[in-house]
Formats: sequence, structure tokens, C-alpha cells
Amino acid sequence: MSGPQVAIDLGCIERNARTVVDRCALSGIKVFGVTKGTCGMPQVARAMLRGGVAGIAESRFENIRRLRDSGINAPIMLLRSPPMARVEEVVRTVDISLQSELATIRELSRIAARMGRVHDIMLMIDLGDLREGIWPNDLVPTVEQILALKGVRIAGIGTNLGCFGAIMPTEENLGQLVAHAYKAERLSGARLDWISGGASSSLTLLLEGLLPAGINNLRVGEAILQGGVETFRETPWAELEPDACRLTSDIIEVKLKPSRPIGQSGYDAFGNQPVFPDERDRLRAIANIGREDVLIEGLTPIAKGVRVLGASSDHLLLDVTDADPPPAVGDRVAFRMSYGAMLLAMTSEYVEKAPMHDVEDFSGRKMVQITAEPAAAGILAREATGARLEAMNFDVVELADIERPPSGLVRLTAGSDRRIAHKALTMTARATHSFGLIWIDSIAALMPEGEDGIDLPERSVLARARTMPIRPKPGC
Ligand SMILES: *Cc1c(COP(=O)(O)O)cnc(C)c1O
Repeated sequence: MSGPQVAIDLGCIERNARTVVDRCALSGIKVFGVTKGTCGMPQVARAMLRGGVAGIAESRFENIRRLRDSGINAPIMLLRSPPMARVEEVVRTVDISLQSELATIRELSRIAARMGRVHDIMLMIDLGDLREGIWPNDLVPTVEQILALKGVRIAGIGTNLGCFGAIMPTEENLGQLVAHAYKAERLSGARLDWISGGASSSLTLLLEGLLPAGINNLRVGEAILQGGVETFRETPWAELEPDACRLTSDIIEVKLKPSRPIGQSGYDAFGNQPVFPDERDRLRAIANIGREDVLIEGLTPIAKGVRVLGASSDHLLLDVTDADPPPAVGDRVAFRMSYGAMLLAMTSEYVEKAPMHDVEDFSGRKMVQITAEPAAAGILAREATGARLEAMNFDVVELADIERPPSGLVRLTAGSDRRIAHKALTMTARATHSFGLIWIDSIAALMPEGEDGIDLPERSVLARARTMPIRPKPGC
């Protein structure tokens, strides 16, 4: 590992998802897990799904494609209204989308009808946060016009709070949401699948027992990914674990320097005129991460006695005078991130993302499943491969459900040429969130064979296989 890295503890995310899902279930609420904070990382989505979420919610097409390409078939909710040019993609790739503009809904209906489909929408109502949503007075005419469209169905009514206007969910505004939803049901003469009462911030009301009855869906990101550090500022939800995503980077300089710059002051790299208090000489460290990678204001050093002084594009300045022991060049420094910091770090191509493997049902058994093409099966039989693996304490198993391999399973795949590797990798990538790869080949070059039609479009799969560390989790 070199350079900045975000370690993502999938076990932590799974447990947080389960905590939220189980509590919501008590109140008849199904949770969609929001992965946009991690750029729609498929491993994160899978961890949330293992934790019991009913579906995944995402705001970006690139992320949705990543999720679908990795074989995730769970329901996906699109959180942001699409541009007209991508309406067809919405119909094709997601199960339900949040909508607030008739023009877009009409186009969705036109395209869906042409494809012989009916697309589910969740009509968003603005209850005061002033981001997306129709104004409540427009509800009746809007619903009436949508009901006349053949290609869309109003599957839900929803609202979004606490994102732009910082308006908190309350019994009052969410009570209005439920009333609006019932009005829409009366107009359409059909029950809605969903009354969606917001995001993580609505969980505070739920825990207080104040979430209005009728709400049966929440779209939760922060509470699962960050353990609700920002949602539950005052009274943390004790069962949620805050450290699922942790940033580390290298210390590249440590020196004793004065706390105030020397010389004539001008503007810094970002056009500011900073002011520095005089704290005499301080031990300062520089880490190799900066404003290009992360929101500096959202970083909290994990080690005691480390303080963020500021940053330029590529250098993060730390005061480490009170750190015990003081860091040295070559050490790594770790940070907790705010949601905003996580968003940027996950988007920066300079920050390595390392999903940490932690599947709770790991049995400790060493299992191997042998798959061989006829041409190779004879060789494996002649060499008594199965018996020799058993002598090495592997259980040789046959699995009917290869879509859901148990953790710890080793697949041994043999064929007469590299096409078998191509097939095996594709299957493995679809079935598991992270895996290790040992490639045994007569040519030690991992060369794709483009010429005879066996090119390896799975370069991305290979890259995933190689860069995905499987490590025991050091604790959440
Ligand atoms: C981002 C988003 C969410 C999730 O918000 P969190 O605070 O991360 O739970 C839910 N709904 C919509 C419409 C969003 O854009």
C-alpha cells in the first residue's frame, strides 16, 4: 500500500445495515440502502443486501451500471431525475425512479410504452427543504395528469428533507406527506407501494417513536456508511458503528517549525489570506493527501494529539506536537471522514479503495470445488487431484447453487485453453464481492489472447481480482 487509501469495512456496513433494517422492520418500514457515498461500489451494495435492505438506491447512472454489471439484480431506485437523453436508460436499468417534473414523466411514459413496459415512479413532494419535489398545491393536478399516462405508474409518494434547506423531518411535515399520499391513493383508486419518508435523518424520529404511521420506506445512506455520526449528532445510536470507511495516508515530512509563516503575507493557493496564531515552535507533519482528494474540513485524525492545520492540493499539514509517540516519516496517519469528505475521497482517482473482506458466516472449513472441461477432466482424474486435495485437508464439494458460493470456497477450474479462465472469472466476479486469484498457466504472462477471438474483456475483473486484498478485519 502506498499513497492515500480508504479502507471500507464491509462487515461494519453489513452490521449497520442490519441494525437499521431490523429497527425499521418493527415499524413496518422497508429500507433501500443508498450507495452513492461510495460511488455505487458493488461490494458495498452487496454488504447492504446481506444486511437485509430491500433494494439499493443510487443517484448516478455510472454507479447503477457498475452495480448491474457486477450482477446485482436487487431492485434499484434512481434518486435523481434523469436528463431527457437518458430516459430510456432509466426504464431499462432501474425498477423505480424519483420524479418531480411532468415533462420528464411524460417522456418516461412515452419511452416505456414504446418498450412495452410500465415504469414505476415515486412522485416527490417538497415539504420545505426546497430541493426536488412538486409543491403540495400542485399534487392533485399533477397526479391526475400522470394517471392519464400509459407507460408510468405512481408506485410511491416521497419527500426529501435535510439536504438543501437543512429542514428537519418532524411529525408535522412527515404527517403532511402521509396525508398527501392518501390523497393520491384516493385519486388513483389504488394503494401505493411506497410512502417514502426521507433519508437517514428520518431515523431520529423513528427512534423517538414519532415517525407518522403510514410511512413504509426510508432511503438510508449515511447511517449505514458512516454509522449515523452526522445524523445522530447529539445522541448517537449506540449500535451503529462509525468507522466503516477510514482514510489513511503516508507521512512524508516531520519537522519542528514555527507556527507562524515568515515573510510578507499574500494569498494562499486558494485565494485566501490565512491568519496563524503564534504557538511558538511546533512539531509538524505532512501527509500525502490534499484538497484534490478530500474535503480537509471533514477529516478527524484518529490518533490523539494530531491536529489538522490545513492543506494545499497535495499536502496535508498536521500539528503532531502532542502525539505520543510522534509520527515518523514512513508512518501512516488515519482519519475518520465526514460524509462530504468520504464523497470526495471515494471520487478521487488518486485514493485507493480497499474493501475489507469480512463475511460473518466463514466456517473455517477449507472447501474446494473442481470444475473441469472434458478435455481437462481426464488429466485431473489421472493425477488424482481430488484425493490429493483431500489429503491436504480440503473438503472437495459439489455445489448445486454456484451463484451463492459459501465464503472460503476455493474454485479449481481446469480447461484446455484460457477460455476456461475467462468463464470462471466472469462467474466468480458475479457471485462474490471480493476474491483472490491464483492463475496457473503454461505461459506466465497473463496474456489476453486477442487474435483468435478469445480476448479478455474481463480486464476489469482481473484488476478487481488482483487489487482486492483479503485480510482479516482488525476490528471495526
Ligand atoms: C442521498 C439521498 C438519500 C440518502 O441520504 P442519507 O442522508 O445518506 O441517508 C436519500 N434520498 C435522496 C433523494 C437522496 O438524494
